[in-house]
Amino acid sequence: MRGITAWEDDPLSSSAAAPVERPVPDLSHPGLGLSVVGRQPAAQTYPRGTAGFRYWSAADSLARAVGYWRRVVPGGLRWHTGRPLVVDLDAGNDLNAYYDRQELCFFHAEVRGVTVYSGESPDVLCHELGHALLDAIRPQIWNAASIEVASFHESFGDISAILSALELRSLRDDVLANTGGRLARSSRVSRLAEQLGWAIRQSHPDAVDADCLRNAVNSFFYRQPESLPPMAPASALSSEPHSFSRVFTAAWLESLAGMAEARGTGAGALASAALDAGRLLVAAVGTARIASNYYAQIAAGLLAADERLMGGEFRAAIRRAFVGRGILAMSSAAAIAAGTKPRGAGQRGRRPDRLPTIDVPVDGRAYGLRLRRLLVEAPLGATRWSASSAALDLGPLAPATPDRASRAFVEDLLRRGRVDTASLDRRAADMPRGGRTTHVLVREGRRVRLARRLVHARPGA
Ligand SMILES: [Zn+2]
Repeated sequence: MRGITAWEDDPLSSSAAAPVERPVPDLSHPGLGLSVVGRQPAAQTYPRGTAGFRYWSAADSLARAVGYWRRVVPGGLRWHTGRPLVVDLDAGNDLNAYYDRQELCFFHAEVRGVTVYSGESPDVLCHELGHALLDAIRPQIWNAASIEVASFHESFGDISAILSALELRSLRDDVLANTGGRLARSSRVSRLAEQLGWAIRQSHPDAVDADCLRNAVNSFFYRQPESLPPMAPASALSSEPHSFSRVFTAAWLESLAGMAEARGTGAGALASAALDAGRLLVAAVGTARIASNYYAQIAAGLLAADERLMGGEFRAAIRRAFVGRGILAMSSAAAIAAGTKPRGAGQRGRRPDRLPTIDVPVDGRAYGLRLRRLLVEAPLGATRWSASSAALDLGPLAPATPDRASRAFVEDLLRRGRVDTASLDRRAADMPRGGRTTHVLVREGRRVRLARRLVHARPGA
Protein backbone atom coordinates (compact mmCIF):
# COMPACT_ATOMS: atom_id res chain seq x y z
CA MET A 1 0.00 0.00 0.00
CA ARG A 2 1.29 3.41 -0.92
CA GLY A 3 0.37 5.44 2.10
CA ILE A 4 1.36 8.02 4.66
CA THR A 5 1.90 7.99 8.42
CA ALA A 6 -0.35 9.93 10.80
CA TRP A 7 -1.35 10.36 14.43
CA GLU A 8 -4.59 8.60 15.30
CA ASP A 9 -4.87 10.65 18.44
CA ASP A 10 -3.14 13.59 20.11
CA PRO A 11 0.69 13.29 20.00
CA LEU A 12 0.77 13.23 23.82
CA SER A 13 -2.19 10.90 24.27
CA SER A 14 -1.15 8.19 26.71
CA SER A 15 -1.92 5.35 24.29
CA ALA A 16 -0.66 6.96 21.09
CA ALA A 17 2.76 5.38 21.17
CA ALA A 18 3.57 5.89 17.53
CA PRO A 19 2.02 7.17 14.31
CA VAL A 20 0.21 4.59 12.20
CA GLU A 21 0.13 3.88 8.48
CA ARG A 22 -2.86 5.34 6.69
CA PRO A 23 -4.04 5.55 3.09
CA VAL A 24 -3.41 8.85 1.30
CA PRO A 25 -6.26 11.19 2.38
CA ASP A 26 -8.45 13.06 -0.09
CA LEU A 27 -9.36 16.67 0.76
CA SER A 28 -11.42 17.45 -2.33
CA HIS A 29 -14.98 16.87 -1.11
CA PRO A 30 -17.42 18.92 -3.19
CA GLY A 31 -18.77 21.84 -1.12
CA LEU A 32 -16.65 20.84 1.88
CA GLY A 33 -13.20 20.82 0.27
CA LEU A 34 -10.01 21.89 2.05
CA SER A 35 -7.05 23.72 0.60
CA VAL A 36 -3.81 23.53 2.58
CA VAL A 37 -1.47 26.53 2.30
CA GLY A 38 1.94 25.86 0.73
CA ARG A 39 3.39 23.17 -1.51
CA GLN A 40 2.02 19.70 -1.03
CA PRO A 41 4.84 17.30 -0.13
CA ALA A 42 4.90 13.99 -2.00
CA ALA A 43 2.52 11.46 -0.44
CA GLN A 44 4.83 9.09 1.38
CA THR A 45 5.89 8.23 4.90
CA TYR A 46 7.98 10.87 6.67
CA PRO A 47 9.72 10.71 10.03
CA ARG A 48 8.02 12.42 12.99
CA GLY A 49 9.11 16.00 13.51
CA THR A 50 9.23 16.84 9.81
CA ALA A 51 6.94 19.20 7.89
CA GLY A 52 6.05 16.36 5.51
CA PHE A 53 4.82 14.24 8.41
CA ARG A 54 2.79 17.09 9.87
CA TYR A 55 1.21 17.85 6.50
CA TRP A 56 -0.06 14.34 5.86
CA SER A 57 -0.99 13.64 9.47
CA ALA A 58 -3.10 16.82 9.55
CA ALA A 59 -4.65 16.02 6.17
CA ASP A 60 -5.58 12.57 7.46
CA SER A 61 -7.32 14.02 10.56
CA LEU A 62 -9.19 16.69 8.61
CA ALA A 63 -10.29 14.22 5.93
CA ARG A 64 -11.59 11.92 8.65
CA ALA A 65 -13.61 14.77 10.23
CA VAL A 66 -15.07 15.86 6.87
CA GLY A 67 -15.79 12.22 6.00
CA TYR A 68 -17.75 11.79 9.23
CA TRP A 69 -19.74 15.02 8.96
CA ARG A 70 -20.57 14.48 5.29
CA ARG A 71 -22.48 11.35 6.24
CA VAL A 72 -24.43 13.27 8.85
CA VAL A 73 -25.28 16.71 7.45
CA PRO A 74 -27.86 17.52 4.75
CA GLY A 75 -26.58 16.88 1.23
CA GLY A 76 -25.19 19.87 -0.63
CA LEU A 77 -23.89 21.62 2.50
CA ARG A 78 -21.09 24.08 1.74
CA TRP A 79 -18.58 26.05 3.82
CA HIS A 80 -19.70 29.52 4.83
CA THR A 81 -17.87 31.26 1.98
CA GLY A 82 -18.92 28.65 -0.59
CA ARG A 83 -15.23 28.14 -1.43
CA PRO A 84 -12.79 25.46 -0.24
CA LEU A 85 -11.73 26.16 3.34
CA VAL A 86 -8.11 27.30 3.58
CA VAL A 87 -5.93 25.48 6.13
CA ASP A 88 -2.73 27.10 7.40
CA LEU A 89 -0.87 24.48 9.41
CA ASP A 90 1.73 26.90 10.77
CA ALA A 91 0.82 30.58 10.82
CA GLY A 92 3.48 31.61 13.35
CA ASN A 93 4.24 31.60 17.04
CA ASP A 94 1.37 30.89 19.44
CA LEU A 95 -0.17 28.13 21.52
CA ASN A 96 -3.55 28.27 19.86
CA ALA A 97 -5.62 27.73 16.70
CA TYR A 98 -8.59 29.51 15.20
CA TYR A 99 -11.36 29.55 12.58
CA ASP A 100 -12.30 32.90 11.07
CA ARG A 101 -14.78 31.95 8.31
CA GLN A 102 -12.00 32.05 5.69
CA GLU A 103 -9.53 29.58 7.11
CA LEU A 104 -8.44 27.24 9.86
CA CYS A 105 -5.21 28.53 11.35
CA PHE A 106 -2.70 26.65 13.48
CA PHE A 107 0.53 27.74 15.19
CA HIS A 108 3.67 26.49 16.89
CA ALA A 109 5.54 27.38 20.07
CA GLU A 110 8.62 26.10 21.82
CA VAL A 111 7.96 24.93 25.37
CA ARG A 112 10.71 23.39 27.52
CA GLY A 113 12.70 22.41 24.48
CA VAL A 114 9.72 20.87 22.66
CA THR A 115 8.21 22.55 19.61
CA VAL A 116 4.47 22.09 19.92
CA TYR A 117 2.44 22.42 16.71
CA SER A 118 -1.29 22.85 17.35
CA GLY A 119 -1.86 21.63 13.78
CA GLU A 120 -0.25 18.30 14.63
CA SER A 121 -3.00 17.30 17.07
CA PRO A 122 -6.02 15.48 15.58
CA ASP A 123 -8.06 16.85 18.51
CA VAL A 124 -7.24 20.49 17.75
CA LEU A 125 -7.61 20.01 13.98
CA CYS A 126 -11.04 18.38 14.31
CA HIS A 127 -12.14 20.96 16.93
CA GLU A 128 -11.46 23.80 14.49
CA LEU A 129 -13.10 21.92 11.66
CA GLY A 130 -16.14 21.57 13.93
CA HIS A 131 -16.39 25.36 14.20
CA ALA A 132 -16.38 25.65 10.41
CA LEU A 133 -18.98 22.90 10.06
CA LEU A 134 -21.31 24.45 12.64
CA ASP A 135 -20.92 27.80 10.89
CA ALA A 136 -21.96 26.14 7.63
CA ILE A 137 -25.05 24.55 9.21
CA ARG A 138 -26.14 27.50 11.35
CA PRO A 139 -24.40 30.77 10.38
CA GLN A 140 -26.91 32.76 12.44
CA ILE A 141 -25.18 31.92 15.70
CA TRP A 142 -21.78 33.37 14.67
CA ASN A 143 -22.58 36.89 15.86
CA ALA A 144 -25.06 36.07 18.63
CA ALA A 145 -24.26 38.13 21.72
CA SER A 146 -24.73 35.32 24.22
CA ILE A 147 -22.20 33.53 26.43
CA GLU A 148 -24.14 30.28 26.14
CA VAL A 149 -24.33 30.39 22.35
CA ALA A 150 -20.58 31.14 22.12
CA SER A 151 -19.93 28.26 24.53
CA PHE A 152 -21.97 25.89 22.38
CA HIS A 153 -19.67 26.74 19.44
CA GLU A 154 -16.74 25.54 21.57
CA SER A 155 -18.58 22.44 22.70
CA PHE A 156 -19.45 21.57 19.10
CA GLY A 157 -15.72 21.80 18.29
CA ASP A 158 -14.86 19.32 21.04
CA ILE A 159 -17.73 17.04 20.00
CA SER A 160 -16.35 17.13 16.46
CA ALA A 161 -12.97 16.00 17.83
CA ILE A 162 -14.60 13.12 19.76
CA LEU A 163 -16.76 11.93 16.85
CA SER A 164 -13.88 12.15 14.38
CA ALA A 165 -11.67 10.09 16.70
CA LEU A 166 -14.39 7.43 17.06
CA GLU A 167 -14.31 6.96 13.29
CA LEU A 168 -11.18 4.87 13.82
CA ARG A 169 -11.92 1.23 14.56
CA SER A 170 -8.63 0.79 16.43
CA LEU A 171 -9.50 3.69 18.69
CA ARG A 172 -13.03 2.46 19.39
CA ASP A 173 -11.67 -0.97 20.36
CA ASP A 174 -8.98 0.58 22.55
CA VAL A 175 -11.37 2.92 24.36
CA LEU A 176 -13.96 0.22 25.00
CA ALA A 177 -11.23 -2.09 26.34
CA ASN A 178 -9.81 0.59 28.61
CA THR A 179 -13.11 1.83 30.05
CA GLY A 180 -14.80 -1.52 30.58
CA GLY A 181 -17.12 -0.65 27.71
CA ARG A 182 -18.22 2.62 29.32
CA LEU A 183 -17.65 5.58 27.02
CA ALA A 184 -18.69 8.00 29.78
CA ARG A 185 -15.47 7.20 31.65
CA SER A 186 -12.32 9.23 31.16
CA SER A 187 -10.34 7.92 28.18
CA ARG A 188 -8.07 9.01 25.37
CA VAL A 189 -11.25 10.07 23.55
CA SER A 190 -12.60 12.25 26.37
CA ARG A 191 -9.18 13.85 27.00
CA LEU A 192 -8.84 16.54 24.36
CA ALA A 193 -5.58 18.09 23.17
CA GLU A 194 -3.21 16.52 25.71
CA GLN A 195 -0.10 18.08 24.21
CA LEU A 196 -1.46 21.62 23.97
CA GLY A 197 -2.73 21.21 27.53
CA TRP A 198 0.73 20.11 28.68
CA ALA A 199 2.36 23.11 26.97
CA ILE A 200 -0.04 25.59 28.59
CA ARG A 201 0.34 23.94 32.00
CA GLN A 202 4.09 24.72 31.99
CA SER A 203 3.36 28.42 32.38
CA HIS A 204 -0.25 28.45 33.69
CA PRO A 205 -0.67 25.31 35.81
CA ASP A 206 -4.32 25.90 36.74
CA ALA A 207 -5.55 27.18 33.35
CA VAL A 208 -6.22 23.72 31.91
CA ASP A 209 -7.17 20.26 33.17
CA ALA A 210 -4.46 18.18 34.83
CA ASP A 211 -4.33 15.59 32.03
CA CYS A 212 -5.25 17.52 28.86
CA LEU A 213 -6.66 20.82 27.59
CA ARG A 214 -10.28 19.89 28.38
CA ASN A 215 -11.66 16.56 29.57
CA ALA A 216 -15.20 15.80 28.37
CA VAL A 217 -15.69 13.69 31.48
CA ASN A 218 -16.30 16.08 34.38
CA SER A 219 -18.82 16.85 37.14
CA PHE A 220 -20.04 20.34 36.27
CA PHE A 221 -23.73 21.07 36.82
CA TYR A 222 -25.49 23.69 34.72
CA ARG A 223 -25.34 27.31 35.87
CA GLN A 224 -26.66 30.37 34.14
CA PRO A 225 -23.41 31.68 32.58
CA GLU A 226 -24.38 35.32 33.18
CA SER A 227 -24.09 34.59 36.90
CA LEU A 228 -20.65 32.94 36.72
CA PRO A 229 -17.35 34.73 37.44
CA PRO A 230 -15.50 35.84 34.29
CA MET A 231 -12.44 33.84 35.28
CA ALA A 232 -11.75 30.67 37.24
CA PRO A 233 -9.18 27.87 37.48
CA ALA A 234 -9.92 24.85 35.30
CA SER A 235 -11.44 23.05 38.29
CA ALA A 236 -14.37 25.50 38.33
CA LEU A 237 -16.75 26.95 35.76
CA SER A 238 -16.43 30.50 34.51
CA SER A 239 -18.36 32.47 31.90
CA GLU A 240 -15.41 32.13 29.50
CA PRO A 241 -16.87 30.09 26.60
CA HIS A 242 -14.21 27.33 26.60
CA SER A 243 -14.74 26.84 30.32
CA PHE A 244 -18.54 26.90 30.16
CA SER A 245 -18.57 24.64 27.07
CA ARG A 246 -17.51 21.74 29.32
CA VAL A 247 -21.00 21.40 30.85
CA PHE A 248 -22.60 20.72 27.47
CA THR A 249 -19.77 18.52 26.17
CA ALA A 250 -19.93 16.29 29.25
CA ALA A 251 -23.71 15.87 29.01
CA TRP A 252 -23.40 15.15 25.32
CA LEU A 253 -20.71 12.48 25.84
CA GLU A 254 -22.90 10.87 28.51
CA SER A 255 -25.83 10.81 26.12
CA LEU A 256 -23.64 9.24 23.41
CA ALA A 257 -22.50 6.61 25.92
CA GLY A 258 -26.15 5.85 26.74
CA MET A 259 -27.02 5.64 23.03
CA ALA A 260 -24.16 3.23 22.40
CA GLU A 261 -25.29 1.03 25.30
CA ALA A 262 -28.84 1.06 23.94
CA ARG A 263 -27.46 -0.30 20.65
CA GLY A 264 -25.53 -3.13 22.23
CA THR A 265 -21.89 -3.75 23.07
CA GLY A 266 -18.74 -3.55 21.02
CA ALA A 267 -17.16 -1.25 18.50
CA GLY A 268 -19.90 -1.74 15.90
CA ALA A 269 -22.66 -0.55 18.25
CA LEU A 270 -20.53 2.44 19.17
CA ALA A 271 -19.92 3.34 15.51
CA SER A 272 -23.60 3.22 14.60
CA ALA A 273 -24.61 5.20 17.73
CA ALA A 274 -21.94 7.81 16.96
CA LEU A 275 -23.33 8.28 13.48
CA ASP A 276 -26.90 8.71 14.73
CA ALA A 277 -25.74 10.97 17.57
CA GLY A 278 -24.25 13.30 14.98
CA ARG A 279 -27.46 13.22 12.92
CA LEU A 280 -29.51 14.17 15.98
CA LEU A 281 -27.12 16.96 16.90
CA VAL A 282 -27.21 18.44 13.40
CA ALA A 283 -31.02 18.22 13.39
CA ALA A 284 -31.20 19.95 16.79
CA VAL A 285 -28.82 22.72 15.68
CA GLY A 286 -30.98 23.27 12.59
CA THR A 287 -34.15 23.90 14.57
CA ALA A 288 -33.20 25.13 18.05
CA ARG A 289 -34.19 28.65 19.07
CA ILE A 290 -31.16 30.89 19.43
CA ALA A 291 -32.03 31.90 22.98
CA SER A 292 -29.89 32.87 25.99
CA ASN A 293 -30.39 29.35 27.40
CA TYR A 294 -29.23 27.76 24.17
CA TYR A 295 -28.08 24.51 25.83
CA ALA A 296 -31.68 23.78 26.90
CA GLN A 297 -32.90 24.58 23.39
CA ILE A 298 -30.40 22.15 21.86
CA ALA A 299 -31.21 19.43 24.42
CA ALA A 300 -34.94 19.83 23.68
CA GLY A 301 -34.07 19.72 19.98
CA LEU A 302 -32.18 16.44 20.50
CA LEU A 303 -35.20 14.85 22.18
CA ALA A 304 -37.53 16.11 19.46
CA ALA A 305 -35.20 14.93 16.68
CA ASP A 306 -34.93 11.53 18.36
CA GLU A 307 -38.74 11.20 18.34
CA ARG A 308 -38.90 12.29 14.71
CA LEU A 309 -35.95 10.40 13.24
CA MET A 310 -35.41 7.41 15.57
CA GLY A 311 -38.89 6.80 16.96
CA GLY A 312 -37.67 7.73 20.46
CA GLU A 313 -34.98 5.02 20.60
CA PHE A 314 -32.58 7.27 22.52
CA ARG A 315 -35.14 9.18 24.62
CA ALA A 316 -33.96 7.69 27.92
CA ALA A 317 -30.25 8.19 27.16
CA ILE A 318 -30.65 11.83 26.13
CA ARG A 319 -33.01 12.64 28.97
CA ARG A 320 -30.81 11.04 31.63
CA ALA A 321 -27.72 12.94 30.47
CA PHE A 322 -29.22 16.40 29.98
CA VAL A 323 -31.67 16.35 32.89
CA GLY A 324 -28.97 14.93 35.14
CA ARG A 325 -26.70 17.91 34.45
CA GLY A 326 -29.46 20.48 34.85
CA ILE A 327 -29.19 21.53 31.20
CA LEU A 328 -32.82 20.55 30.73
CA ALA A 329 -35.33 21.09 33.53
CA MET A 330 -37.38 18.01 34.38
CA SER A 331 -40.55 19.90 33.51
CA SER A 332 -39.22 20.69 30.00
CA ALA A 333 -38.22 17.07 29.42
CA ALA A 334 -41.65 15.93 30.62
CA ALA A 335 -43.39 18.40 28.30
CA ILE A 336 -41.49 17.01 25.30
CA ALA A 337 -42.31 13.45 26.34
CA ALA A 338 -45.99 14.43 26.60
CA GLY A 339 -45.90 15.79 23.07
CA THR A 340 -46.19 19.49 23.93
CA LYS A 341 -42.97 20.29 22.18
CA PRO A 342 -41.14 23.37 23.35
CA ARG A 343 -41.32 25.92 20.59
CA GLY A 344 -38.51 25.59 18.12
CA ALA A 345 -37.53 22.15 19.32
CA GLY A 346 -39.17 20.12 16.63
CA GLN A 347 -40.42 22.50 14.00
CA ARG A 348 -38.62 23.10 10.79
CA GLY A 349 -38.73 26.33 8.99
CA ARG A 350 -38.33 29.79 10.36
CA ARG A 351 -34.66 30.63 10.20
CA PRO A 352 -34.13 34.34 10.50
CA ASP A 353 -31.00 35.38 8.64
CA ARG A 354 -30.07 37.68 11.42
CA LEU A 355 -31.05 37.75 15.05
CA PRO A 356 -32.98 40.73 16.38
CA THR A 357 -30.51 43.46 17.19
CA ILE A 358 -30.40 45.39 20.40
CA ASP A 359 -28.63 48.55 21.50
CA VAL A 360 -26.39 47.87 24.47
CA PRO A 361 -25.37 50.94 26.41
CA VAL A 362 -21.61 50.80 26.92
CA ASP A 363 -19.83 53.46 28.89
CA GLY A 364 -16.81 53.43 26.64
CA ARG A 365 -14.80 55.64 29.01
CA ALA A 366 -14.47 52.68 31.36
CA TYR A 367 -12.56 50.93 28.56
CA GLY A 368 -10.81 53.95 27.09
CA LEU A 369 -13.23 54.13 24.15
CA ARG A 370 -15.33 56.88 22.66
CA LEU A 371 -18.48 54.84 22.63
CA ARG A 372 -21.92 55.27 24.19
CA ARG A 373 -23.99 52.58 22.56
CA LEU A 374 -23.14 49.40 20.79
CA LEU A 375 -25.36 47.47 18.41
CA VAL A 376 -25.31 43.70 18.99
CA GLU A 377 -27.30 40.66 17.84
CA ALA A 378 -29.21 39.67 20.94
CA PRO A 379 -30.40 36.12 21.63
CA LEU A 380 -34.16 35.59 21.44
CA GLY A 381 -36.34 36.07 24.49
CA ALA A 382 -38.23 33.38 26.39
CA THR A 383 -41.67 32.24 25.31
CA ARG A 384 -44.22 30.23 27.24
CA TRP A 385 -43.16 27.10 25.37
CA SER A 386 -39.40 27.59 25.42
CA ALA A 387 -37.40 24.81 27.05
CA SER A 388 -35.69 25.72 30.33
CA SER A 389 -32.64 24.64 32.24
CA ALA A 390 -32.81 23.67 35.90
CA ALA A 391 -32.30 25.99 38.83
CA LEU A 392 -29.71 24.95 41.42
CA ASP A 393 -32.37 24.52 44.09
CA LEU A 394 -35.76 23.65 42.62
CA GLY A 395 -37.64 23.67 39.34
CA PRO A 396 -36.88 25.44 36.07
CA LEU A 397 -34.71 28.53 35.72
CA ALA A 398 -35.99 31.59 33.86
CA PRO A 399 -33.51 32.35 31.06
CA ALA A 400 -31.59 35.63 31.07
CA THR A 401 -33.46 38.34 29.15
CA PRO A 402 -32.01 39.31 25.75
CA ASP A 403 -30.84 42.60 27.26
CA ARG A 404 -29.08 41.03 30.24
CA ALA A 405 -27.55 38.21 28.16
CA SER A 406 -26.16 40.68 25.59
CA ARG A 407 -24.77 43.07 28.18
CA ALA A 408 -23.08 40.25 30.08
CA PHE A 409 -21.54 39.00 26.81
CA VAL A 410 -20.22 42.45 25.83
CA GLU A 411 -18.88 43.25 29.28
CA ASP A 412 -17.04 39.92 29.41
CA LEU A 413 -15.43 40.54 26.01
CA LEU A 414 -14.32 44.06 26.86
CA ARG A 415 -13.00 43.06 30.27
CA ARG A 416 -10.88 40.33 28.68
CA GLY A 417 -9.57 42.62 25.95
CA ARG A 418 -11.16 40.51 23.22
CA VAL A 419 -12.50 43.40 21.14
CA ASP A 420 -10.42 45.04 18.40
CA THR A 421 -11.33 48.73 18.79
CA ALA A 422 -9.12 50.10 16.02
CA SER A 423 -12.11 51.42 14.05
CA LEU A 424 -12.84 53.88 16.90
CA ASP A 425 -9.36 55.21 17.38
CA ARG A 426 -6.84 56.21 14.71
CA ARG A 427 -3.91 55.76 17.05
CA ALA A 428 -5.05 52.24 17.83
CA ALA A 429 -5.23 51.50 14.10
CA ASP A 430 -1.46 51.88 13.91
CA MET A 431 -0.85 49.46 16.72
CA PRO A 432 -0.20 45.83 15.93
CA ARG A 433 -3.26 43.71 16.35
CA GLY A 434 -2.98 41.36 19.28
CA GLY A 435 -3.73 37.66 18.88
CA ARG A 436 -6.23 37.89 21.70
CA THR A 437 -9.13 39.63 20.00
CA THR A 438 -12.08 37.63 18.77
CA HIS A 439 -14.44 40.51 17.98
CA VAL A 440 -14.25 43.79 16.15
CA LEU A 441 -16.19 47.07 16.28
CA VAL A 442 -17.57 47.90 12.85
CA ARG A 443 -18.70 51.44 12.02
CA GLU A 444 -22.07 51.63 10.27
CA GLY A 445 -22.69 55.33 9.64
CA ARG A 446 -23.06 56.84 13.08
CA ARG A 447 -23.54 53.52 14.75
CA VAL A 448 -21.08 50.89 15.87
CA ARG A 449 -21.78 47.19 15.63
CA LEU A 450 -20.07 44.28 17.39
CA ALA A 451 -19.05 41.49 14.98
CA ARG A 452 -17.15 38.26 15.53
CA ARG A 453 -13.87 37.76 13.68
CA LEU A 454 -12.87 34.32 14.84
CA VAL A 455 -13.14 31.52 17.37
CA HIS A 456 -10.07 30.15 19.17
CA ALA A 457 -9.29 26.61 20.33
CA ARG A 458 -8.67 28.02 23.81
CA PRO A 459 -8.76 31.41 25.52
CA GLY A 460 -6.09 33.52 23.79
CA ALA A 461 -3.29 34.57 26.13
ZN1 LIG B 1 -12.80 26.67 19.57
